[in-house]
Amino acid sequence: MQVKEQLLQLKPYQPGKPIEEVKKEFNLTKVVKLASNENPFGCSPKVKQAILDELEQLAIYPDGYAALLRTKVANHVGVNENEIIFGNGTDEVIQIICRALLNPQSNTVMATPTFPQYKHNAVIEGAEIREVPLVNGDHDLDSMLVQIDENTKIVWICTPNNPVGTYVKKQALLDFLTKVPKHVLVIVDEAYYEYVTAEDYPQTVPLLKDNSNLMILRTFSKAYGLAALRIGYGLGNVELINKIEPAREPFNTNRVAQAAAIAALGDVQFVEECQIKNKQGLQQFYDFCEELKLNYYTSEGNFILIDFNRDSDELFQALLKRGYIVRSGNALGVPNHLRITIGTEQQNAEIIQILKDFIL
Ligand SMILES: *Cc1c(COP(=O)(O)O)cnc(C)c1O
Repeated sequence: MQVKEQLLQLKPYQPGKPIEEVKKEFNLTKVVKLASNENPFGCSPKVKQAILDELEQLAIYPDGYAALLRTKVANHVGVNENEIIFGNGTDEVIQIICRALLNPQSNTVMATPTFPQYKHNAVIEGAEIREVPLVNGDHDLDSMLVQIDENTKIVWICTPNNPVGTYVKKQALLDFLTKVPKHVLVIVDEAYYEYVTAEDYPQTVPLLKDNSNLMILRTFSKAYGLAALRIGYGLGNVELINKIEPAREPFNTNRVAQAAAIAALGDVQFVEECQIKNKQGLQQFYDFCEELKLNYYTSEGNFILIDFNRDSDELFQALLKRGYIVRSGNALGVPNHLRITIGTEQQNAEIIQILKDFIL
């Protein structure tokens, strides 16, 4: 049996070590996962009740159009209801877009390092990948423009960029959008939108009106704390959404996730509190980096990328033994770095202490 040739160059996704496995291996009772930028504060308590209420309905297929959630999201972000596509996580929206647009004759332009699913899905579709290295941690938008040609279908902008935490400033994005040819779909992935506080972070939803080739991605997995339920969405102009909709499975988002997402949108305060605590947690790590003279990127997400200037796998192991799962940069294309999800104040303090004990 022969799979598509392009699959041979891909590895299955390497998840962070499961908590149960780490507990057994190191004989720990408490293990904290700060490896995939999940919300350390969980989700809104309102979500739990909404899920319980939905349990009566498990025998019935979900609403494939997600009508109730659609109305909520449309009001929340300020678009029309037909300008949204939902996915089983934003990961699935990325897959749908690639499936709908890419083929072996086309290419797609992205930064490196950036969120790996853009490349992964583009490879499956057989498209040519054009990766443009970050400059000082930022998207090199001018060089990305140079890579665009008549066969380019999609250009990806991840802002804040996972795994770095940097963002594309308003004027830079506006300039970029005026220069990108209209046959190219610009995807702006805003998975960490709710955490951003920078004043020159662009509000992209109003740009949809004049940019029919723009699509915005958001998710309930990060600040809303619903990563397990798998629900995210894309925003774009109605012709664009209608063109890619046939590539979406009819019941791709489930009933429980839809109900939970509706409840999550109803608790603005929860998300605001998470944003504030995240900023305080980032400051704990900034202080640590300053004290130890480590290079890092200031982050608008709920994670920080730190350059330890030494094999980060060793640091990863030291944290693992003490019950903290983080991400070593080797797999992310940034050797010698750790990407640490910001935890609770106490978790951050413990991680910092373990790192100090190891380094000093
Ligand atoms: C986490 C993440 C996503 C995907 O989130 P889902 O859980 O699939 O909704 C998308 N983009 C970026 C940059 C992310 O970090």
